[in-house]
Amino acid sequence: MTTKISFRSVTRTFQVGDNEFRALDGVDLDIADREFVTVVGPSGCGKSTLLNIAAGLIEPTDGEVRVDDRPVAGPGPDCGVIFQQYALFPWLTVQQNVEFGLKVAKVGRAERRQRARHFIDLVGLSDFADALPKTLSGGMRQRCAIARAYAVNPNILLMDEPFGALDALTRVQLQDQLLATWTAEKRTVMFITHDVDEAVYLANRVIVMAARPGRLHEVIDVDLPHPRTEAIRLSEQFTAIRNRVWHAVYHQTPTEGTSR
Ligand code: ADP
Repeated sequence: MTTKISFRSVTRTFQVGDNEFRALDGVDLDIADREFVTVVGPSGCGKSTLLNIAAGLIEPTDGEVRVDDRPVAGPGPDCGVIFQQYALFPWLTVQQNVEFGLKVAKVGRAERRQRARHFIDLVGLSDFADALPKTLSGGMRQRCAIARAYAVNPNILLMDEPFGALDALTRVQLQDQLLATWTAEKRTVMFITHDVDEAVYLANRVIVMAARPGRLHEVIDVDLPHPRTEAIRLSEQFTAIRNRVWHAVYHQTPTEGTSR
């Protein structure tokens, strides 16, 4: 399998007053092309820092991240980033929001419309193309953000707790929507979450991190079949993997090192 994103001894420190705080310590991780990985771990273990380094928004203090075997040198069109706060332009309609990145990329009007429409349909917002964000529910806004990220055709989607602000039911629906979109248009996805069930349901691999200093703790394969369904969510196999991830997240001992 081709490696898409490669973290090599990634370390990041922050100056806090007189002290140097180690947010990430020597992270080594390869993410394969078109893989869907989720990242879980206690608050402050460096999940967002790791994602922001992959996005080129933060530089590592030491080590490097390579995408397609080239060093990341700042944010680029290769990466779509989706945060918890939807970050839609409130004065633009769903269609215009999804077209925005294409306009910046100077894609012609007809193609722009057609591409935006394709992803709006894919995330189930066809009837709301002309709606303004304020008239949409949180879940619909986040679907719009996903369509917008997909529309510019990035190879990589980096998602930082995108469903964190949503209620449990909407969250489950969006997980299915995201997986359906990922199945139709395979991209490499790195998805941060606090929710262990969500982490297992979505992923091919769950990356469990530990804090102080932020580091890899355990990498757990999720060998559940696709498409993921409610039956899978309720299966013993799912429960077994969920329990393993749960244990890795909530029963970390501070002295344990990285396992991979
Ligand atoms: P997570 O996403 O796992 O909650 P973060 O990556 O947001 O963790 O943060 C990891 C640690 O680094 C936290 O303790 C946080 O306070 C610290 N940190 C993150 N960004 C900064 C910054 N700009 N300045 C100082 N400390 C920071």
